[in-house]
Amino acid sequence: MPQGSRLRKARLEVDRRRREVRMFAAAMQHRTRPVLAQIVPIRRCNLDCAYCNEYDRTSAPVPIDEMLRRIDKLAELGTSIITISGGEPMLHPQLEEIIRRIRSHGLIATLISNAYLMSHDRIRALNEAGLDYLQISIDNVEPDGTSKKSLRVLRQKLEWLAAEAEFAITINSVVGAGVSHPEDALVVARSARSMGFNSTVGIAHDGEGQSRGLDEGQFRIYQEIRKMETGVFSFAHFDRFQENLAHGRPNAWHCRAGARFLYICEDGLVHYCSQQRGHPGIPLAGYTQADIEREYEAEKGCAPFCSISCVHQTAMLDQIREDPRGMLRELIERRQANDPNFRTPVMLRFVAWAFLDNPLAGRLRGAMARFFGLRAG
Ligand code: SF4
Ligand code: SF4
Repeated sequence: MPQGSRLRKARLEVDRRRREVRMFAAAMQHRTRPVLAQIVPIRRCNLDCAYCNEYDRTSAPVPIDEMLRRIDKLAELGTSIITISGGEPMLHPQLEEIIRRIRSHGLIATLISNAYLMSHDRIRALNEAGLDYLQISIDNVEPDGTSKKSLRVLRQKLEWLAAEAEFAITINSVVGAGVSHPEDALVVARSARSMGFNSTVGIAHDGEGQSRGLDEGQFRIYQEIRKMETGVFSFAHFDRFQENLAHGRPNAWHCRAGARFLYICEDGLVHYCSQQRGHPGIPLAGYTQADIEREYEAEKGCAPFCSISCVHQTAMLDQIREDPRGMLRELIERRQANDPNFRTPVMLRFVAWAFLDNPLAGRLRGAMARFFGLRAG
């Protein structure tokens, strides 16, 4: 990558971090603002992974005006991050316009894609639209009857992305029930790191978002990949949820789906998540603060064995908000127990200092809220 492009990429990275801090501050300041919304601009997919219940072969893209209205509504509700998923969202002919609208509200724009449709032109268009994050799931090294999201098939696209993308890229792999070659996850994660991407690992879930524990071999692979994770605000390497699930243990937590996390289907209805559709099933256009309050408190019976990690992450923000000192201590101690050489990231040290450990913490919180344009309350 030429020097000018590298500098531009570094500048964009700083801007992304600034908006992540803003997201964090908003989550600390308000409990009734959604942190993350996932929207579906098209249900159709160009692949047919055997385990997937989130796609069809025929549906049309959601009209662009309707998509833009939904983005505006999510911004009005105070959402910080909007993730575009599907189906395969790159099949939407005006995907870049959707991203531009997200960014025009100052929000973080994330895309989940199988990357089959990546080309030099599409990467350039995503750069220009202002995409912040791209997440690609890779299931195996060689395609098989279950999945064609395969390292060998995608390698060329990944190389183009490594050379040209200005957005941050995470490669996700999966271990657990139904994954026939769990060792592939490690190959995928190492390849991702060698190309300069982030890598994460998830635990396979069934059609209701429920996971089963990992056997010894799967657990070892899972641990190896977790050690490679580095993102400060991904919270991934602090995640006790996934650790419990990996051991087959339930989690005691309060799922805030419908409040802190929203899943908006192609019909514009709000659902808890991709695996619990139909609840509450209310049109986004009429979704109110009262709906968010109600769902914030609602207990979800599927929570103990839920493996939807992005919802876990939003719940962790609420744990920090409710018990900041205890939660930050737990995050850091957990990481240090797994990795004796671990040094608390600068950003987390700053957050601890700004919000907890200095006599001006209260005033500093107020100043930060004003700086980031957040309303008090
Ligand atoms: S690529 Fe994604 S959306 Fe498409 S079938 Fe596979 S898992 Fe489902
Ligand atoms: S606990 Fe929440 S995120 Fe998990 S499956 Fe249930 S509703 Fe979805």
